[in-house]
Parts: sequence; structure tokens; C-alpha cells
Amino acid sequence: MAEKMLKFISQSKAMPDKRQASDRVADFDEIYADFDLEKAEEQASRCSQCGVPFCQVNCPLHNNIPDWLMLTAENRLQEAYELSSATNTFPEICGRICPQDRLCEGNCVIEKGFESVTIGAVEKYVTETAFDEGWVEPIKVNAEREQSVGIIGAGPAGLAAADLLRRKGYQVVVYDRYDRVGGLMVYGIPGFKLEKDIVERRAELLEKGGIKFELNCEIGRDVTFDELRARHNAVLIATGVYKARDIKVPGIGLEGVVPALDYLTASNRKSLGDDVAEFDSGMLNAEGKNVVVIGGGDTAMDCVRTAIRQEAKSVTCLYRRDRANMPGSQREVENAEEEGVNFQWLSAPHALLGNEVVSAVRAQRIHLGQPDETGRQVPQIIDGSDFDIDADLVVKALGFDPEDLPSLFEQKDLGVSRWGTVQIDWKTMMTQIPGVFAAGDIVRGASLVVWGIRDGRDAAEQIDAFIEAELRGETRQVG
Ligand code: FAD
Ligand code: SF4
Ligand code: SF4
Repeated sequence: MAEKMLKFISQSKAMPDKRQASDRVADFDEIYADFDLEKAEEQASRCSQCGVPFCQVNCPLHNNIPDWLMLTAENRLQEAYELSSATNTFPEICGRICPQDRLCEGNCVIEKGFESVTIGAVEKYVTETAFDEGWVEPIKVNAEREQSVGIIGAGPAGLAAADLLRRKGYQVVVYDRYDRVGGLMVYGIPGFKLEKDIVERRAELLEKGGIKFELNCEIGRDVTFDELRARHNAVLIATGVYKARDIKVPGIGLEGVVPALDYLTASNRKSLGDDVAEFDSGMLNAEGKNVVVIGGGDTAMDCVRTAIRQEAKSVTCLYRRDRANMPGSQREVENAEEEGVNFQWLSAPHALLGNEVVSAVRAQRIHLGQPDETGRQVPQIIDGSDFDIDADLVVKALGFDPEDLPSLFEQKDLGVSRWGTVQIDWKTMMTQIPGVFAAGDIVRGASLVVWGIRDGRDAAEQIDAFIEAELRGETRQVG
């Protein structure tokens, strides 16, 4: 093993510089700077090159992390990029927004005594260097194929599948009801986590590589699902999950109570320079308002931090469990706290007050009781613990469910789970309709970009195998 490695004893962990909270709340730019070459080499050299690398096991893409860390430490950056991009379609995006503390870095073996290797930041550095050096090129197809695949959804799952299928020579058309490519990477995730030109740069490369995009095209409305099937040899459903969960409390219908994704999409569109009437009218703009965000996941963290940047008067996050039990990444909570968000842990909304327009949230304190069958402590209301928080804007960040796809697509044979997610055979990634595959959030429920990429890549392999089998006159089993 190269003598450059195993430096975790002498070299401490360092993240790329993080902008001061007072500076970063003034814009929607990313909050972390890039490593420079010296720092990337130094941090990569901390890896102990484990025989059983738990970082790799716990990366959904099983990236060959120890090898590309070693190549980085040895300043062999082009090889590091080639290795990392062999398993990851968008390493520059995962390096930025994977919750590394729950995936690769959280399982790094040296985490126990010496703090983990900063894997995500190195992945980002290597890929950004590859872009700067011109090593990232559009797909070059050696032999074009006649067969085509229609992909519904230009989010990470659809795009990862499109990339691999195109590399195999297929004619690939990606349909999306939005006007831009990227799904939630463009309209959900705020710029301070992932700047939009990073996604645009990828979209342009994919287009240059011969993938066709039909935007502003909603399948089930502008084109029927049957028409789509008739156009292509196989279809991939990668539509994500968008139906906002709600709570049933008095006052929920008051003006000023909005779903998280409407709020974040308006903000992202504004940053992209679009005209957004609901933002300009003040409906989806937090400026000068007391804002309460209900929920404790990553979407809630994105909402509170967006409200801070829109110069809200106050921003409060209301969550019914405590900090240790919240689903959001601890790193994001820390960032939100630094930026001035007030957290009301162990608190749940009881009613929204106001006359037509919301003016306050009445909340109750919660006690965490005995664990239920899932092992999580059950929140119990403490009687008589009501308190009010002033609120001119209440954002509901309570999670997402799938739309009713069998109805939307008029496909009663499309099997769905009791939660509405599309059922697939995980070996073939195929739904119960032959030649129709599914990937990403629409299969897993609200998940992560990296899982979308993984599913999209797996689906591409299976679609290829399906089309090949069809050409040989074989039929494959339906899931
Ligand atoms: P999506 O990204 O949702 O893409 C689906 C696409 O399908 C959309 O473009 C949609 O317009 C299109 N579509 C839907 N129906 C149709 C139709 N009928 N016809 C045509 N097009 C259609 N994950 C992380 O890893 N890190 C994070 O920091 C993170 N932050 C997040 C913050 C927010 C606010 C949200 C909401 C999610 C976040 N996620 C994060 C989760 C991540 O964005 C998703 O898991 C991921 O984008 C799912 O990918 P997907 O391709 O399955 O779906
Ligand atoms: Fe870690 Fe995500 Fe990169 Fe995998 S893809 S190595 S989990 S940052
Ligand atoms: Fe290196 Fe940590 Fe992965 Fe081990 S677990 S190979 S130390 S990054």
C-alpha cells in the first residue's frame, strides 16, 4: 500500500471551509467552499485502506471509495475521477448533498477514534477538477441502436437510467411535466445545498450526448401512457412523489398556510430568474414575516433556511420529537441553528389561529412515551401545555406520498403498495406490466438522490436485458 495513506493518526479531519452564517444568509449560494489540491490530498491520505471498507458497503452505489481516495492522495486525479464516475452518474451532486453522516462517512472505520475521512468533499473535489480539466465529456455512442426507451421523469432516477441506456446506444427520450431538467434537484433542493448551474451543466451534457428531452409534457395529460408505450420498446416510470401530507387541525385552510414544496419551488424559480406571481404577491415569500415550519425532516430544514434568507422576521421549527429523534440530518440542523432558526422540540400544532389569514400557531408540548412496534417512542400530548407562536406564514413540511398513478395513467394493472408506491420485482425492476419499469422515489417513497441514481442505473441494466430478450424472441417474467 502506498506510504501516502493511513495518515489519520497524525492528520486530523478537516471539512472544506464553511462560510460564516452572517455571510451565507445573505444569498442562496452553497455554504461550503471547495478543497484545494493540497487539502484534498491530505484528507484523502487519512484513509486506512480497510480490508472490509464499511464506507463502500454503506454507499448505496458501492463506490470504490478506498481506491479513489488513494488515487487522490497520490495526485492521480484523472484516474480517481474515472473510478468514481464508473459507479456514480452524478458524483459532483452526491459529494454535495448525500447525507454522508448517515451513509459512507458515518460508517467509516476510523470514525470511532479519529473522525471519519471527508469522503463527500473529496468526491466533489475530484469531479469538479474533472470538469475544469475537460475530462467529463458527453456520451459517445459507438453503435446506434434502433430500439428506444421512454422515461417519465427527469429527476436523478430518470437521468441516471437515461445516461446508461444512451451509452448502450439506445434512443432515449425523457419526458417531464416541468420546464427544466433535474426534478427535485432543481425545484426542491435549495441553492445553498446545490447550486442550480451544477444540475444545468449535467443536463446540457446529457443533451449533447444525444438524450432527447420533451419538457412541459405531462404523461397522463399531454400524452397518454398507452401512446407512450406504443412509441417505445420499454418505459421507465421515475415520477417521484409529490402529494403533500397534511394535518387535520382547526384553521389548516387559512390563507398563509402553504405546502413546503410550493414554497421551495417558488423560491428556487425566483433564484433562477423566473416570474413567480405567488412570490411577488407575498403569498410564498417570507420577507418580514413570522414563519413557522411544521416538521423535522430535511425538507423542513430547507424551508427554515430559505425563510431566513428571504429575511423573515422570525423563523421557528415545530417538531413533535426531540433533536436526537428527528429524521433530518444533524448537520443540517446545526446549519439552521447557526443561521438563526429557533427550534421548538417536542411540540406539535394544535390549531392555527386567525381570521381568514393565519396569525398564530397554537402548539402543545409533547412527552415521548414507550416505544411502539417500530422501536420509536410514541409522542404523547402534555395536557394544559398550550402555547402560541406568532405566524404570518405557516409551512407544512410533513412528507410526501405518491400520486394515484394507476388512475393518472389509466393502467389498472399497474400494481401499487398500500402507500401508493409502484410495486416492482427488485430483480428485474419491472412492474406488473411487461416492458414497464420503475425507479426512484415512486418505488421507495420519499428517499435520497443517491438511491434514485442507484435505482436508475439498475433499471437501465434490466431494460437492456429485457429488450435483448425480446429481440431473441424470449419473454421475461412479469414482477
Ligand atoms: P424526482 O426528483 O422527484 O423527479 C421526478 C420527476 O418526474 C420530476 O421532474 C417531475 O416533474 C416528473 N414527473 C412526475 N410526474 C410526471 C408525469 N406524469 N409526466 C411527466 N413528468 C412527471 N436527497 C438527498 O439525497 N439530499 C438532499 O439534501 C435532499 N434534499 C431534499 C430536499 C427537499 C426539499 C426534497 C423535497 C427532497 C430532498 N431530497 C434530498 C430527496 C431527493 O430530492 C429525492 O429523493 C430524489 O430527487 C428522487 O429522485 P426521483 O428521480 O425519483 O424523483
Ligand atoms: Fe458517500 Fe454519497 Fe458519495 Fe456514496 S455517493 S460515497 S454515500 S457521498
Ligand atoms: Fe478509508 Fe474509512 Fe473507507 Fe476505511 S471506512 S476505507 S478508513 S474511508
